Order: sequence, then C-alpha cells, then structure tokens
Amino acid sequence: MELVFATHNQNKFEEVLLLIPEHIKLLSLDMIECFDKIEETGTTLEENAQLKADFVTKNYGFNCFSDDTGLLVDALNGAPGVHTARYAGEKKDADANMDKLLAALNDNDNRNAHFKTAIALNINSEKHQFNGVVEGTIASKKSGAKGFGYDPIFIPEGYDKTFAELPLFIKNKISHRGRAIQKLMAFLIEHQLF
Ligand code: IMP
Repeated sequence: MELVFATHNQNKFEEVLLLIPEHIKLLSLDMIECFDKIEETGTTLEENAQLKADFVTKNYGFNCFSDDTGLLVDALNGAPGVHTARYAGEKKDADANMDKLLAALNDNDNRNAHFKTAIALNINSEKHQFNGVVEGTIASKKSGAKGFGYDPIFIPEGYDKTFAELPLFIKNKISHRGRAIQKLMAFLIEHQLF
C-alpha cells in the first residue's frame, strides 16, 4: 500500500520511515512531486495537520497522513506552541528559534516543557487523528548534533541528554512523533488497512 507522509522535511521523513513496516510504501511530498507550500493557517496543531493532509488528498488523490508539532514551555504559558516553527520569524531558522527560547527562559528554574505532535490521517475517504506527547526540560545551552529543530535543547524525561545527543532509535521510541506514529500504526493494523 502507498501512503504519503505530507512533509518536505527529510529528517522527519527518515525518522518516520524507521517506524513503518516495509510493506507500506511511504512517499514524501517530494516523491509525489508536490512542491507546493501548504499554508498552516489553523489555530491548533490538529487543524494544521488536517489542512496539510486535506491539501494532499484533494490535489493529489493519495491516502495520506501529516503531522504538526508544537513545543509547549510551562514558564512561557505554553509558548511557542502552535507558533513553534516561526517562533523567531518567517525563516523558520532552528538556531534562531532556540536562541530566542533560551533568552526567553533566561535563568528561570522552571524549565519544564513538552513536545506534542498531532497526526491527521486521510484514508479511504475517512479522517482520523492521533497525538503523541513527550515531557521533558529545556537545557541551559545547545548540545548535540543529531536530529533537527529544537532537539539540541530538549532533554526528555528520564534522560540526562538532549534529543540531539541521543541515538535515533531512542528518540523514536519515546518522542512525541514516535508515540503518535505508534498509535497510527496500531490503528492501521487493528482495522486491517494494509
Ligand atoms: P512542524 O510540525 O514541522 O510544523 O514543526 C514545528 C516546529 O517544531 C519546527 O520548528 C520543527 O523544527 C520543530 N520540531 C518538530 N518536530 C521536532 C522534533 O522532533 N525535534 C525538535 N524539533 C521539532
């Protein structure tokens, strides 16, 4: 079965590829030659995930899922939240985003935060949603070179290293996206959809 994962982000695609059985042919947006910029105009992660999945199903006709992720920091009342990608501006620059977050927290002792991923699945004319959360803390500085986005400053609960320092198989087992994908896979298996 072919299933589109509606992302242009190669890092994300490779993470998810490791969680999907081989008999599902996972296709990225580039692989279906979708080079459109899909607007994320929703006010929640769930709405944005649905917008992306609907765009692909409507315009390209594939069964498809998409994800939208937010980093929610307790001491910042849940910011950057739905604005995580553009926290430091339209360029979506990961270093600038992390610098802005570290400056906003400064030496605040409360560094609790969580990542949340919403997944929207459009399959055989039905729509389903899944989510995944990982609790953790924001480090005082960037460490590590693996992963992408805010990985160098996020320390998942139960570990003393950032996501950017941990091997991908550990990140995938406990991460927001990994957990949401595990729910998606359980759903596909339970409903014998592949
Ligand atoms: P989106 O879901 O691709 O829109 O991601 C929103 C923002 O969260 C972007 O700034 C991403 O870089 C960041 N992000 C998404 N997933 C991860 C992750 O697994 N680790 C670190 N940052 C992430």
